[in-house]
Amino acid sequence: MSRDYPLEKVRNIGIIAHIDAGKTTVSERILFFTGISHKIGEVHEGEAIMDWMAQERERGITITSAATTCYWRPTDKPEEECRINLIDTPGHIDFTVEVQRSLRVLDGAVIVFDGVAGVEPQSETVWRQADKFNMPRICFINKLDRTGANFKEGLASIEKKLTQKAIPIQLPIGQEDKFEGVIDLLKMKAYYFGEDIKEPLREAEIPDELMSEAKDYQDILIERIAAERSDLIEKYFNNEEISLDELRAGLRQAVLNYKIVPVMCGSALKNKGVQHLLDAVYYYLPNPLDLPPVEGKTLDGEVTKRQTSEDSPFAALVFKIASDPYVGTLAYFRIYSGILKQGSYALNPRTGKKERIGRLLRMHSNHRQEMEEVHAGGIAATVGLKDTRTGDTLCDENNPVILESIEFPDPVISIRVEPKAKADQDKLDNALRRLSEEDPTLRISRDADTNEMIISGMGELHLDIIIDRVKREFNVEANVGRPEVSYRETILIEAEGRGQYIHQSGGRGQYGDVCVRLTPRQRGEGFKFNNIIKGGAIPQEYIPAVEKGLKEAMGEGVVAGYPVIDVEATVYDGSFHEVDSSEMAFKIAATRAFHEVSRQAQPVLLEPIMKVEVVTPEEFFGDVMGDLSARRGKIIDTFDREKTKVIDAEVPLAEMFGYATTLRSLSKGRANFTMEFKEYYEVPRHISEEIIAGRKR
Ligand code: GDP
Repeated sequence: MSRDYPLEKVRNIGIIAHIDAGKTTVSERILFFTGISHKIGEVHEGEAIMDWMAQERERGITITSAATTCYWRPTDKPEEECRINLIDTPGHIDFTVEVQRSLRVLDGAVIVFDGVAGVEPQSETVWRQADKFNMPRICFINKLDRTGANFKEGLASIEKKLTQKAIPIQLPIGQEDKFEGVIDLLKMKAYYFGEDIKEPLREAEIPDELMSEAKDYQDILIERIAAERSDLIEKYFNNEEISLDELRAGLRQAVLNYKIVPVMCGSALKNKGVQHLLDAVYYYLPNPLDLPPVEGKTLDGEVTKRQTSEDSPFAALVFKIASDPYVGTLAYFRIYSGILKQGSYALNPRTGKKERIGRLLRMHSNHRQEMEEVHAGGIAATVGLKDTRTGDTLCDENNPVILESIEFPDPVISIRVEPKAKADQDKLDNALRRLSEEDPTLRISRDADTNEMIISGMGELHLDIIIDRVKREFNVEANVGRPEVSYRETILIEAEGRGQYIHQSGGRGQYGDVCVRLTPRQRGEGFKFNNIIKGGAIPQEYIPAVEKGLKEAMGEGVVAGYPVIDVEATVYDGSFHEVDSSEMAFKIAATRAFHEVSRQAQPVLLEPIMKVEVVTPEEFFGDVMGDLSARRGKIIDTFDREKTKVIDAEVPLAEMFGYATTLRSLSKGRANFTMEFKEYYEVPRHISEEIIAGRKR
């Protein structure tokens, strides 16, 4: 079996930034420079580059795909070409479910900062999420050409707000309109940027006036690298020379272990610093083999691990479903183990079905490459999967594994939407349908009475973002209603009783008579139906109608008309009439029995409780805690992470509306939170009464 590409030379990375810090520009420049680098390797050098550049200028480089593959030859080791898979991270980084999912498939990240603004709240949010995975990363302080840009202040804000692990591996030569080059602190050389993008970097000696500062920073860097490597410590203390390769290897190890975060600088817009950034991606960010084996679960729920290897059974995670104007629906996946071949079959453990793998595509900035197979560590897209969603695992049918919990929680919040212009109804329907294919936590329905469209999701922010995407990507303006919590109902005690539907006054009559027992079940256990009728009190042919009637009745509970969950219903008796009984009569009788019996079974209202994690600088800790308590929050745990306080709490969703805004103002924009559905809990009585009264109005 021929290897696809040496895994040691593969980098799966993402670029992450606060909106406007320059993520798009950096990505575009990466594709631009890697495009040139790749062409340089081909036979007709000069012309190819010029052609390619002209084409690109005409078309504009597109980075619309969820993962774009490019190739880079490090500036000082052009023989060592590497493959970089640039994975798109969500533009709205405060949408945490998506960010976490996309972070899962990245091996390393480049975090881009605005050289004027420094660390902004969204970079802080993603930083904390990347901390959970101990993700190796590089900081790039961008926009150094801007008036007011300051590398050292940017660095200081990273150290203060994010981490002490940040260590510069470059210093700028000049700033703002005088930004003309960088000092490489490992090589102790200066590099000047050309005026023209095609001009190569010019290497020179470090200018005298910057030498002493450069030496100071180099000392810090070497000391920190040496601290991670005992062999280097000795050399360092004996004042022996440490070679560039040794330094790089040491720095690489420290970055992989998340002990050092290298800080670099540049101006993407002016094409400055991007080549060095690409070099650093190659030298310091992990390849798929550097990572620990991925964890998953077997179908029996046992934890299992998969080694990044072509010889292990196939397993991949689908991280994005996207519609492509040319090929239809594309599923982007990352292979953790084994090989996937075109035309083969893969099991989707969520559906239990096998999917045929049609075309396999690798997306480049200016073309898509058809492939026969994709190997462990790789990223690609496939066309034509029937029922595979974002977050699904695809695996070898003989070695099933689930790489991510695939149970998408039911939505807990809804809003009504309508197009601003009536004529846009079809466009709105289409937009929401497309978005729900991509996002398994978004559901679309219609109000049976008013025919209004309702979208339901995991939180206020989630739905805000959906509406925003409808506007930006599909050009439909929508009016939205107030967010509504999706309450549920259940029963607390067992009860039994009878429901009848009997009309026998002349002509063909109606006769249904059902006795049911309702028993409470644990949260999450769902509905269960039993039939224990003996001696044909209700003929078998009517039993499905009874079950159907019960299920329909559960759609609207007796407390406030919300769906009833987690109930076991047992039909134990009843009676029938030779002529007048029908499926319809038994269905109605069962519905009545359900309503009748659930009234005696202590029916209650349930509300969604959210698992909330707040990460806040210490100074706002007290205020944040106080506010959470005022929201009926239960504090589960508090602890320190890096330079911040983390609060884990459980809070009713109904109390979380507008939390993002409150938290922002409580913490001057510096605290962040993530929230996900945990469980339905009983609503306290006084609040339940208010909700019921509101529902009646
Ligand atoms: P994104 O929102 O993070 O993707 O940011 P963009 O890449 O779209 O950049 C936002 C704005 O900043 C755009 O107007 C860019 O032209 C500008 N920009 C990006 N990089 C630089 C830079 O290095 N210097 C300057 N002066 N402007 C930049």
